[in-house]
Amino acid sequence: MMYEFRVNELAQEFGVHRNTIRNWIKSGAIPAKEGPGRRYLMKWSDYQALCEKFGKTPKKPPTSTGAEEEEKQEITPIHLKPKTQTFYPDPSWADVCLTCGTCASACPIAGVDGMDPRKIVRMAALGMEEELIETDWVWKCTMCAKCEEACPMNVEIVQLIRKIRSLRPRDRVPGPIHKGVINCLERGNNLGIPKDDFIFLLEDLSEEMAEECCPGFKAPVDVRGARILVTVNSKEPFAEPDDMKFWWKIFYAAGESWTIPSEYWEGVNWGLFSGDDEAMKTIVGRIVDNLKRLNCEGLLLPE
Ligand code: SF4
Ligand code: SF4
Repeated sequence: MMYEFRVNELAQEFGVHRNTIRNWIKSGAIPAKEGPGRRYLMKWSDYQALCEKFGKTPKKPPTSTGAEEEEKQEITPIHLKPKTQTFYPDPSWADVCLTCGTCASACPIAGVDGMDPRKIVRMAALGMEEELIETDWVWKCTMCAKCEEACPMNVEIVQLIRKIRSLRPRDRVPGPIHKGVINCLERGNNLGIPKDDFIFLLEDLSEEMAEECCPGFKAPVDVRGARILVTVNSKEPFAEPDDMKFWWKIFYAAGESWTIPSEYWEGVNWGLFSGDDEAMKTIVGRIVDNLKRLNCEGLLLPE
């Protein structure tokens, strides 16, 4: 016997975020398979085991008859057009969209130059791939995920928008983000600040802060065994260096153990925003390497 569920239903039932359920499915902690219409199926016994783990009473088992199963199998989804797998491995994902517009109501930039997440979802459902790759709407999105949070049907709008971005040829990615990704890969941070300049700035600011308010302060660089690894948004050393002192003063007052790495200290991963998964992985990997190299317990990201 199988248990059929939607991610948000199971999340509600067990009192966890729906991304937690998605992660459990991805990791195999919930042994479920994708079914039609963005539903999932798991064995009834696995559902019962999950309920037991959470101290919940399982729902009433489904009492399906052979006839009902047959009827179920006979239902075939009606597609307006054949779907492709460009945006999602399962092309039926967009069939669940109700065109309710809740996503557009939640989106802080809906209406800017005609941007509307509902339209993006509908265009994807209708197979308008070239138009989506060419539209600048997806580049206006801030990836805040408010649309997704509001969507009653759990459409993964942010993932869709990232996928569309990834399909734009890199030389036509608007704005500075692709250049920032290249800088980060080649020079270690989005704005290409050289290591010596960065270290000099940290020393200079440290002296200022020691004089102003925090006697003996020195920004800790590459300190092995520090508790927190602190990454930096490169726009701060580049344009607003005094902003870094806000964190430093808190650390100083709290007697915190922390350090900044001398290399690969960039904390803003523009690969995430440009839809460049490979670059994103490389940049994250460098931060993880720093965590291991310096044996830090925690990580502070500026964004
Ligand atoms: S909120 Fe969800 S179901 Fe409603 S229009 Fe947006 S994507 Fe479709
Ligand atoms: S993730 Fe993008 S489309 Fe969704 S609400 Fe935020 S800005 Fe709007």
